[in-house]
Amino acid sequence: MTRLIIFGAPGAGKGTQATRIAASLGIPAISTGDIFRYNIKNETALGLQVKEILASGAYVPDEVTNAIVRDRLDQPDAVGGFLLDGYPRTQAQVTELDDMLAVQGTSLDAVLELTVDTDEVVQRLLKRAEIDGRADDTEDVIRHRLRVYDEETAPLAALYRERGLLHQVDGMGEMDTVAERLRAVLATLQS
Ligand code: ADP
Repeated sequence: MTRLIIFGAPGAGKGTQATRIAASLGIPAISTGDIFRYNIKNETALGLQVKEILASGAYVPDEVTNAIVRDRLDQPDAVGGFLLDGYPRTQAQVTELDDMLAVQGTSLDAVLELTVDTDEVVQRLLKRAEIDGRADDTEDVIRHRLRVYDEETAPLAALYRERGLLHQVDGMGEMDTVAERLRAVLATLQS
């Protein structure tokens, strides 16, 4: 059970949980958002290309994001498994990921969806803004990101449900409680 996606709204806690799950399974957690932020911080060509997009809360074009994930999944540490965080986010990315895995002769094992309440998520993100100072954590941009998520990304859950891959986990509550719920789901998949 090593090819996983963690799915959920901005602020659902995907990053935190992804890091833990990946460490416990010995696979890399691959966050497209982190890759973009790293490039912005280091002022690479990619960083300059996506900086304004991230600050506005819009999605980076699929061609750009897909190329990055394709490269990352080709790295030796991801060949045996991975946990994707923040990808796929559009229908075109779902198709592209299917294609990448088909080429490898592999497929996804599970999609873990963290479900959260929208008001709670806005509060979490505003709090994170105070701590991390992320450029896209202002209230207007947060609301925009949630709207884009609802329109473009939330519907993808149905697609994975049809494939029998979707596992919904309640993302509300303490970090440790949520981690325990995820662990329990993963345990049922591995047995
Ligand atoms: P969050 O889930 O809290 O919004 P992320 O770190 O996952 O944070 O993403 C931050 C931003 O990076 C997104 O708002 C978007 O601009 C960009 N991004 C990340 N992943 C993708 C993706 N798969 N497709 C397009 N844009 C992406």
